Amino acid sequence: MKLIWLQSGGCGGCTLSWLGYAHGPLLEVLAEAGIELVWHPSLSAASGDEALALIEAYASGARSFDILCVEGALLRGPWLDQLPSGNFHCFGGGKPMLDWVLRLAMRARHVVAIGSCAAFGGITAAGGNPTDAAGLQHDGEIGGGVLGPYFRDAVGLPVVNVSGCPPHPDWITETLAMLAQGRLTADGLDEFGRPRFFADRLVHHGCPRNEYYEFKAGAEHPGEQGCLMENLGCKGTQAHADCNLRLWNGEGSCLRGGFPCIRCTEPEFEEPGHPFNTTPKVAGIPIGLPADMPKAWFVALAALSKSATPPRVKENATAERLRRAPSVKRSKK
Ligand code: SF4
Ligand code: SF4
Repeated sequence: MKLIWLQSGGCGGCTLSWLGYAHGPLLEVLAEAGIELVWHPSLSAASGDEALALIEAYASGARSFDILCVEGALLRGPWLDQLPSGNFHCFGGGKPMLDWVLRLAMRARHVVAIGSCAAFGGITAAGGNPTDAAGLQHDGEIGGGVLGPYFRDAVGLPVVNVSGCPPHPDWITETLAMLAQGRLTADGLDEFGRPRFFADRLVHHGCPRNEYYEFKAGAEHPGEQGCLMENLGCKGTQAHADCNLRLWNGEGSCLRGGFPCIRCTEPEFEEPGHPFNTTPKVAGIPIGLPADMPKAWFVALAALSKSATPPRVKENATAERLRRAPSVKRSKK
């Protein structure tokens, strides 16, 4: 399958993440999956007029291709005569990127949003959003985006949203391989169009701080070992992704690096209404409760857990290194 990758309103971090793919030389892995990279702004030799002519051939239908990947949000502004001109971002100094994406999306067999900007608007759509940035098929949580809620590709799939800021390199590569091999069906996507092979998990799953979470033993300052939910803004219990099961660079994750999960695979993560590293509370209870958990249960469980916290867990939660090891119990006296 032939793949075209365009970069729109973003930081380029999705591409940087993808280039960190750790399971072999990326282009060889793609070739083995049956994917030919026709054009990518960072990986292709063609640039300037040569690149524009190449992509025009695919946009006009003179040449055919299969997968359109878009990284970064689409900038719809400024509006002229009540229509989105897209003039805030012109590709190669020519036509608006918005026009290129609309034309190419109609020719592609599959359309893939790479990263939360392309999927939902993401960081680019934060704040006052003066560029009127939006995702390909979502504007935040709302279906729509620049392709509209009813867009479907040649086999009936919506835009495939490989969300994340940035997405894990495996999510991108595996999604493309599944599309190339006809293994990604509508049932394989969740309600936000995210591939379920990574979105049916929570960041909380596999977090090394799980024991602290169970006993609601929270870290109070950065660098401490406890759970980051109670005081430091962690939203791993609400974030759909397998970051702590499928580690980054084979060994890392935000939590393992000491940072709270900011829910970057979710629409509208970029504007939580509070600093990312703080936990807003009402009457001492975090506002953002875990997915699937009624508030009353959480409150009851938290109170019970706190009253049962072993001294070891409590002490270690606010320490930067293991302070108290688990005691050894003998089964026979
Ligand atoms: S999703 Fe994040 S990493 Fe990717 S382009 Fe947007 S801001 Fe950059
Ligand atoms: S730090 Fe976050 S992801 Fe880890 S156990 Fe606590 S709530 Fe879950």
